[in-house]
Amino acid sequence: MDRLEAMELAQESAHCLKPAEAFSLIGNEIRVKILEALWYADEQPVDFTTLCGRVEADNSAQFNYHLGQLTGHFVRKTNRGYELRTAGESVVQAVVEGSFNAHPDLAPIETDDACTHCGSSLVATYSDEKFAIRCQACGRTHGKYSFPPGGLIDRDGDEILSAFNQRVRHLHSLARDGVCPKCSGQMQTEIVRGETCCLDADLRAEYTCLQCRHNLCSTIGIALLDQSPVISFYRDHGIDLRSTPYWQLDWCVSDDCTTVTSTDPWRIKLAITETGDTLTVTLGEQLSVLTTARAEGPATNSPAP
Ligand SMILES: [Zn+2]
Ligand SMILES: [Zn+2]
Repeated sequence: MDRLEAMELAQESAHCLKPAEAFSLIGNEIRVKILEALWYADEQPVDFTTLCGRVEADNSAQFNYHLGQLTGHFVRKTNRGYELRTAGESVVQAVVEGSFNAHPDLAPIETDDACTHCGSSLVATYSDEKFAIRCQACGRTHGKYSFPPGGLIDRDGDEILSAFNQRVRHLHSLARDGVCPKCSGQMQTEIVRGETCCLDADLRAEYTCLQCRHNLCSTIGIALLDQSPVISFYRDHGIDLRSTPYWQLDWCVSDDCTTVTSTDPWRIKLAITETGDTLTVTLGEQLSVLTTARAEGPATNSPAP
């Protein structure tokens, strides 16, 4: 797509409508019902009569009026009926996520997992739609990331934690590939030192979306969770990295295993040790993997200063 095409597309999509106008268009119960009816339909488009029957409006003139207001920005009219546009889908998603928000104060979940620093049990606490994994004994933080309240429904504590772990892996995998997990915009990677965040690491990667400003902090290690040399190193030791909680891996929650060998350009070595063997990964700018080396025996690199 060239620049002109992109601009035209933007003109006819969300960007041509001012936020206040967009909100006023959906500030009506029948309109929200129409969007929900389309969202829950087994198949789209839905024809006028069927849609009208599902919305339970007082009369078809009223229904017709509200449907007309939505058509264009939130709903698309086709020969066979009506279907949701992305903007309409986002509205319903927000409503659905919000309606699940009946459990904002979930009791802390005791995990069976040991703190990577002191070995005490880790506790997961949920607030502001984020999970934080923390050791109450020594205070080491093991990350704090968003988890929509819808994810708490029909899951027990273990299932919630497992879903949270998968979500964190997924968020970081997208961000590292330069795709914003919120809006799919371009994400920029910056390697930073000396600032604090939800991880016990001085050296970190900060991802920022150039479009929606969403940001995500990461250890250097979390960025490697989906890398095949790391996955196969663990597989060779009988461990499935995909189902191992990231907070169980010290190289994912701290920078104890990283060594900076150069800052311009960035060259970072990460040494992962498992049952006596070591995998050393060298990363460059944008956290690209430059080399990997496996050796029997523990790492010879000293930890980061
Ligand atoms: Zn601890
Ligand atoms: Zn974004």
